[in-house]
Amino acid sequence: MDISNESRLELKAAVTRAQQKLGDEFPLQARIEGAQPTLQAAYAGILGHWVREAAPPAAGIAPQAVLDALSAMDAIVSDEQGIGCYPFSARKTEIRVHFSGRNVHAMCAIDALAIPRMVRHASRITARCVVCRCHLTCAVAANGSVEKENQNPEAARVVWEPGAGGGQACCIRLCAGIGFVCRHCTVSPDALTFSLPQAAAVGNAFFAFQRRLLEQYPT
Ligand SMILES: [Zn+2]
Repeated sequence: MDISNESRLELKAAVTRAQQKLGDEFPLQARIEGAQPTLQAAYAGILGHWVREAAPPAAGIAPQAVLDALSAMDAIVSDEQGIGCYPFSARKTEIRVHFSGRNVHAMCAIDALAIPRMVRHASRITARCVVCRCHLTCAVAANGSVEKENQNPEAARVVWEPGAGGGQACCIRLCAGIGFVCRHCTVSPDALTFSLPQAAAVGNAFFAFQRRLLEQYPT
C-alpha cells in the first residue's frame, strides 16, 4: 500500500507532537545539558557503562553526592538492583531488548525502540501486550529503524496512556503508561497510539543527545 503525501505529513506531525509532549513532560536533555560538567561526565560514564556492558554497580562508579544529584534530576534511577539510566532499566521490566548476545530491560516501549540505535546493534524487542498479555516481538536495525516485517499497519502499536501526574520519577509517572499493544486489542480513547516506526522515531529523537554526550565524554 502506498501512503499518500497527506497521510505522510499527518504521521510526521503526530511524531513531532509526541516528541514535544515527551520533552515537556520529561525534559531529560535540557536537564543534562544544563548540568555542571562534573554531573554530565558522571552521567556519560553511567550511560557508557550500560552501552558497553551492563548496569553499573550501585556504588563506586561516581561519588555518592553526584549520584544523589543525578537521581534528584531523575536522570538516573538508583536502587539495590543497580543504576538505571533511561532508556535502560536496572529493575526488571516486561520489555526486553536482545542484541549481540545481551539482554537488557527497557524503561518503556519508546525507550526500548531507542536502544538499538544507542548500542548500534540490530536488536529484537520482546514484550507483552499491555491489554491481553500476549507475547510480542519487534526487530529493529542497528540504525534504529523498525524492520519491514514490523512496519505493517496491522502490526503491534505503542500506546501512551496519560499518567497519574505528580512529582514521581519518570519511570513510574510516564513509563508505566507507555507500552506495546497487540493488533487485536483496543485502548482507551484518551490514549495516544503510534505505529512502531513512529514510536521509534520519537525514541531515537528523544535520546539523540546521549550519543553526542558519549562522544563528548569518551570513557
Ligand atoms: Zn492484546
